[in-house]
Amino acid sequence: MLYQRSSQLFAEAEKVIPGGVNSPVRAFKAVGGTPIFVERAKGAYLYDVDGNRLLDYINSWGPMILGHAFEPVVHAVIEKAKLGTSFGMPTELETQIASLAVEMVPNVDKIRFVNSGTEACMSAIRLARGFTNRDKIIKFAGCYHGHSDSFLIQAGSGAVTFGSPNSPGVTAGTAKDTLLATYNDLENVNALIEANKGEIAAIIVEPVAGNMGCIPPKAGFLEGLRTLCSDNGILLIFDEVMTGFRLAPGGVQELLNVNADIVCFGKVIGGGLPVGAFAARNEIMNFLAPLGPVYQAGTLSGNPLAMAAGLAMLKALNEDKEVFERLAAKTAYLHAGLEKVLKENNIAFTINRIGSMISVHFDSSPVIDFKSAAKGDNENFKKFFHGMLQAGVYIAPSAYETWFITDALSYEDLDFTINAAATVAQTL
Ligand SMILES: *Cc1c(COP(=O)(O)O)cnc(C)c1O
Repeated sequence: MLYQRSSQLFAEAEKVIPGGVNSPVRAFKAVGGTPIFVERAKGAYLYDVDGNRLLDYINSWGPMILGHAFEPVVHAVIEKAKLGTSFGMPTELETQIASLAVEMVPNVDKIRFVNSGTEACMSAIRLARGFTNRDKIIKFAGCYHGHSDSFLIQAGSGAVTFGSPNSPGVTAGTAKDTLLATYNDLENVNALIEANKGEIAAIIVEPVAGNMGCIPPKAGFLEGLRTLCSDNGILLIFDEVMTGFRLAPGGVQELLNVNADIVCFGKVIGGGLPVGAFAARNEIMNFLAPLGPVYQAGTLSGNPLAMAAGLAMLKALNEDKEVFERLAAKTAYLHAGLEKVLKENNIAFTINRIGSMISVHFDSSPVIDFKSAAKGDNENFKKFFHGMLQAGVYIAPSAYETWFITDALSYEDLDFTINAAATVAQTL
């Protein structure tokens, strides 16, 4: 495949956009090469500016769970656009999507819409801090909650008690209120709570981790967090920006039957338009302005085009609940196929999978937290990525990303992918 036009466009973009991209992982820095510029997409396929067709396993990093240019979403957006694109005043559409979301998601009474997953998580911790009147939060190394200051904290030696910023621009004052824990390690969380008695407002967690590859919680991990939170007056925040409306109609709360206090959404909830949201029971949500003292706002929040796209998406998922089983079956099929060809070629690997999320780590030991995720062989990953790309299969350009399966993928597409992997595996 040739990427002449993409290379040209990237060179032009680099002159006026930092790194040529508006979100860093798009730049292919982890794998080398030039990012691919897209012209259009339909169903399971992307079509780039050089005329290449790619089978897509990123799907806009999650939102396109029913495939690209999903007809009901496209139709809803076009029809709404004709009526005006933003008012800064309430619309009935906002109540419709809010009612449906609250009906689908367990354990929440009210939801507030924002414009991204970042905003949702940022607002959720402010709300948790306001509600509990405490400052500190616990997050897990390797979990991503968007790019707001409190969350850009990475594990490092000496980070057990105080986080250290991993991005310049995050002040030490902010970093000290974010405590870092190890995913799937309740003992570690318990120790942090004991060392900071009465000071922790919230524990925020990806209930199924998806930003260090896919890492499902160990049996009892989420239940343990629930108990620790309830016992210590701490709010449990599930960041379901990736998993919400993906792993079940009600997300991980429903799938694994554990209740959170605040739930964050993004990605699927916007059907491919910029939407985030956070939800909780009345007692907590009524703390938000204009009812309560915690301020949060947005000029374009609840934007009619975004709400129309989100509502069409949620309706489609709510009316066809078997979609979640179909997706899981397709993902299991891909898992079995990839496992077979990687084994046949004696490659060290671990595949993690849950529902429609799957990731291939190039290391044979179990991947359960950030440390084990970081052990993967990045040279093999790079070769695998570029080999698959040459074959016409687009996986995320980073070993720390999950692949997203969409309902638009056919079994022929999955076979094509497995065959491509069989060929690429011979070169690893
Ligand atoms: C993508 C993601 C975010 C950030 O959402 P944006 O819309 O990119 O701001 C937050 N949390 C999780 C778990 C995510 O996967």
